[in-house]
Amino acid sequence: MITIREIKQMQATSEKYRSEGKKIGFVPTMGFLHEGHLSLIRQMRPLCDILVVSIFVNPTQFAPSEDLEQYPRDFERDEKLCRNENVDIIFYPDSGQMYPAPYATYVHVENLTDTLCGASRPGHFRGVTTIVTKLFHIVKPHLAIFGEKDFQQAVVLKKMVVDLNFDVKIMTGPIIREEDGLAMSSRNKYLTANQRRQATIIYQSLQKAQEMVKAGERNSEVIRKYIIDNINRIPETKIDYVAVVNETTLKPVVQIDHHSVIALAVYIGSTRLIDNVRLNTIR
Ligand code: AMP
Repeated sequence: MITIREIKQMQATSEKYRSEGKKIGFVPTMGFLHEGHLSLIRQMRPLCDILVVSIFVNPTQFAPSEDLEQYPRDFERDEKLCRNENVDIIFYPDSGQMYPAPYATYVHVENLTDTLCGASRPGHFRGVTTIVTKLFHIVKPHLAIFGEKDFQQAVVLKKMVVDLNFDVKIMTGPIIREEDGLAMSSRNKYLTANQRRQATIIYQSLQKAQEMVKAGERNSEVIRKYIIDNINRIPETKIDYVAVVNETTLKPVVQIDHHSVIALAVYIGSTRLIDNVRLNTIR
């Protein structure tokens, strides 16, 4: 395994492998790797010849008020974890190289980015689509994989790839959870022990909602209200949004069907956590 820090070197390396007919698989991350990231790496490993993982805490997807500075980082640990998974290349650039001043060019996907997390984090998806575009131009992957934990992100990136004719196949991997159901996230590290216990309400509520749908409930407002009331009972929680949406358009649905997803964002103290579940209405 090698670590590449220079954009030009990454491009030249990928170009060389491409010219040899090698298939490049790519897992973009912000580092501080956990089982969620590792599951994506494990899914990609058998599908490609050269597996590239990027580690870059992307400043353009954080608002000035957000946790860019605090965001956890531990490159040495990440390096060991990647080595254990047989990663071939870690691409680990610095911000100055990725966004040399005066930086001026951004990628924006319309409509899909105005809702859900996009509504409460203006500019966030512009940062995501910009960095992923840049990384695709640098790493030149044939295949890239993203986690369903960031459900809206995956929908937005799939749209971007189609609209801008990127020759990259986008895959997604399922949400990896802690034993008590909390979706794994680098941000879980911010939670106090007490908040960590409270955070289990998120997936518990989503699971209960899934059961309600399985039992025949199709009214999205009933489901939303159940989740909101349930989460609001827990002292340190503050709901950002709870939405039942179509998996492709991200538009709210009234009548739940097989293409519906419940997505939510909840603050536990000052930590914002996201989660989602698909709804199975086929019996
Ligand atoms: P991040 O480092 O948070 O930007 O995440 C990098 C990639 O890992 C993204 O595609 C995320 O969706 C994915 N990811 C993060 N947490 C999880 C999880 N718990 N399960 C599956 N994928 C995840």
